[in-house]
Amino acid sequence: MKRALVTGITGQDGRHMSELLQSKGYQVFGMVRGQNNPKLQTVMDENPALELVEGDLRDLSSLIAAVEQVQPDEVYNLGAMSFVALSFRQPELTADITGVGVLRMLEAIRIVGGADANPIRFYQASSSEMFGKVRETPQTEQTPFHPRSPYGVAKVFGHYTTLNYRESYGIHASSGICFNHEGERRGLEFVTRKITNGVARIELGLQEKISLGNLESQRDWGYAGDFVEAMWLMLQQDQPDDYVIATGETHTIGEFLDLAFRCAGIDDWTPYVEQDPRFMRPAEVDLLLGDPTKARTQLGWTPRVSFEDLVARMCAHDLREESQRAGRG
Ligand code: GDP
Repeated sequence: MKRALVTGITGQDGRHMSELLQSKGYQVFGMVRGQNNPKLQTVMDENPALELVEGDLRDLSSLIAAVEQVQPDEVYNLGAMSFVALSFRQPELTADITGVGVLRMLEAIRIVGGADANPIRFYQASSSEMFGKVRETPQTEQTPFHPRSPYGVAKVFGHYTTLNYRESYGIHASSGICFNHEGERRGLEFVTRKITNGVARIELGLQEKISLGNLESQRDWGYAGDFVEAMWLMLQQDQPDDYVIATGETHTIGEFLDLAFRCAGIDDWTPYVEQDPRFMRPAEVDLLLGDPTKARTQLGWTPRVSFEDLVARMCAHDLREESQRAGRG
């Protein structure tokens, strides 16, 4: 039975990844800081076979202990301070967890090693935010980086550290440059889930308006369940490499709003949306559009859930969840 160590186990991707790995027969160990994570109970309820191991991306010795204890075949580094807006307010913490955390995990892997015949494989969750002020469209593995937030800068550090450990120490370390990926488990602070949750609450009469920031942004939004398959495929290749993981389609927030409000039978959303400067950012990434050709040709990966289906399934989920909550309340 293969063993996988997953950081960020209580996050959106960690939860999808542990389900995927278990469906493939892995024993999955989720790394947790050990104290008071409010999402931990939900994760344990939905996945009772998951094993927990203590560790913190800010603490190298805890990572060495975790890797020693688990003896993983594969490590998926999905843990990070992942919210761009917060990274402007807590830049140093972001650099430490999202950036230097990658270096610490790679150090732990380098130090603990793994059997010669079976070295530990590593996946780094890199991000389209590294492209930031985009130099070309669509963005490929060759597109230069120009990050626009402390989060993006930290991800660039993590990305190059992954390459550096691959080249310096021969570690099977791969990096997935993932464009935005969403779903029912997306945090409520992200714009997609904020919208689908807001639409559900408006439909149920629990809320009057959704307050948003920059409505001009465009994103290449995929489904998180599809993206974790690409991450797993990378670690099954003979050679480690970098891959853009994206749908190859970009949509505006306005289009997202159109589809989400239509799920609630509302054609004109303008009376229900207000702009609030609190949600604007000091610098923006305006147009993100990924070219997933390499992932398609080399990994055989294609996303399955379309943009329309993504919005519909998030809306249906939030309507169900908010109705249940209202019923209980
Ligand atoms: P990101 O791509 O990782 O930053 O994902 P987000 O979902 O947080 O933001 C996507 C885009 O939506 C960014 O360009 C935001 O500026 C824009 N946006 C507009 N209004 C909001 C809002 O109220 N909340 C968030 N999170 N983003 C917003």
